[in-house]
Amino acid sequence: MNDAAISALEAMLGDRVSRSKSDLEAHGGSETHFALCPPEAVVYPHSTEEVSAILRLCNAHGCPVIGFGAGTSLEGHTSAVSGGISVDFSRMNKLIEVRPADMQAVVQPGLTREELNRELRATGLFFSVDPGANAAMGGMAATRASGTTAVRYGTMKDNVLALEVVLADGRVIRTGSGARKSSSGYDLTALMLGSEGTLGLITELTVRLHGQPEATSAGVCAFDTIEDAVSTVSAVMQAGVPMARMEFLDADVVRAVNAYSGSDIPERPHLFVEFQGSESGVAEDAGGKRSKKPAPTLPPLRFRGRLWAMWATGISTPFYWSNAAMRRNWRRPRKSARGWRNAPCDWAAPSPANTASASASALTWRRNMARAGS
Ligand SMILES: Cc1cc2nc3c(=O)[nH]c(=O)nc-3n(C[C@H](O)[C@H](O)[C@H](O)COP(=O)(O)OP(=O)(O)OC[C@H]3O[C@@H](n4cnc5c(N)ncnc54)[C@H](O)[C@@H]3O)c2cc1C
Repeated sequence: MNDAAISALEAMLGDRVSRSKSDLEAHGGSETHFALCPPEAVVYPHSTEEVSAILRLCNAHGCPVIGFGAGTSLEGHTSAVSGGISVDFSRMNKLIEVRPADMQAVVQPGLTREELNRELRATGLFFSVDPGANAAMGGMAATRASGTTAVRYGTMKDNVLALEVVLADGRVIRTGSGARKSSSGYDLTALMLGSEGTLGLITELTVRLHGQPEATSAGVCAFDTIEDAVSTVSAVMQAGVPMARMEFLDADVVRAVNAYSGSDIPERPHLFVEFQGSESGVAEDAGGKRSKKPAPTLPPLRFRGRLWAMWATGISTPFYWSNAAMRRNWRRPRKSARGWRNAPCDWAAPSPANTASASASALTWRRNMARAGS
C-alpha cells in the first residue's frame, strides 16, 4: 500500500488527488479485455513542474506511477498490477503553439487528436495519425500509435519530432528538435515512442502536420477470397497508387459486423480504401489511371456505402466493437465527455476457431503487406 505517498500527494495537490471508486475504476483497465485493476489514487497535474514533483515524491516512497491519456489502449497498459497512482493528463490538454510555416504543432499530452484537428481546421493543416479512438497525444506517443492512415502518413514514429519527458526521479529532459534534417546524437525520441510510460512521462510533444487534402474519395470493395484481397493490396501499393487509408476485413469480421449492427453485407473479404488529393487526382487514383505501371484490377468500388459510414463514425473501427460484442459477457462501453471509456467487464476468451481464423488472416495480411514494402 502507498498511503504515505498518497497523503503527501494530497498535501501537494489538494482535491486534484482522487480516491473515489468510480475514478479508480475508470483508470483501472482502459479498453482492455483484462480484469479491472484500479490504482490506489488518481492525480490530475496542471504542469510539467507538478509532474516532476509527483514523480520525485513517488520515487522517494517507491510508489508505482502509471500515465493515463484517454484510456483507449487495448493491452492492459493502464492496469495497476502493483498498485500505485494513475497520473491523468486530461488537465494538461493545451495546444501550445502552431507553426504553420514549419508545418508543426507543440501540444500538451492530454490534448486528444480530435481536439487538435478541431483547433487546426482553419489553418489548412491537420494531424494525420488516427488510431480509431479519440486518444490523447501523450498516450498515442507512449504506444507509438498507428491506425488507418499509416499507409500514407506513417505512425507516431514518423510524426513526432521532439518530446519533453519527466524521468522517474523527477528530472525533466528534452529529446529531438523541430529540425527535419538532424541525425546527430542518440535518437531518444524514438526510444520514448512506444515505451508505454515505463521510461518517463511525456509532458510536451512537437508533432508534424500535413496539408488538408482538397478532396477525399472512399470506397469499399468485396473479394471472393482473402488471397484476392491481399494480392490486390500488394498490386495497388506496387503500382504507387497513393492510398490515404486502407483496411481489410475477412468474412468472419463482416459476419461479426452484421451480427452487431443488423446489416446484411455479403459475408466475403472486404477492403476499405480512401484516396486524398486534388479533385481530379482522387478520381484518377480511384480509377487506377494515374500510375504509369499497369493498373491493378480493383473490383467495383461501392463509394460511401453503409459499411464505410460505420468505419468513419468517430468510434471508427466497427470491427473492434463487433468482435467485442461477440464475446461472452460483453457490455457496451460508456461514452464520457472525453470519448469512449472502458466499462468494467468480465471478458471470455474468443473461441479457438475464431482466433485461428483471425490470426491466419492477420498473418496473410502482414506477409502480403511486408512483400508490398509497407
Ligand atoms: C476502437 C479502437 C480502435 C483502435 N485502433 C488502433 C489502431 O488502429 N492502431 C493503434 O495503434 N491503436 C489502436 N487502438 C488503441 C489505442 O487507441 C492506442 O493505443 C492509443 O494510442 C492509446 O492512447 P490513449 O491516450 O488512450 O492512452 P492510454 O490508454 O491512456 O495509455 C496508453 C499507454 O500510454 C501511457 N501513457 C499515457 N499518457 C502518457 C504520457 N503522457 N506519458 C507517458 N506515458 C503515457 C499509459 O501509461 C499506457 O501505458 C484502438 C483503440 C480502440 C478503442
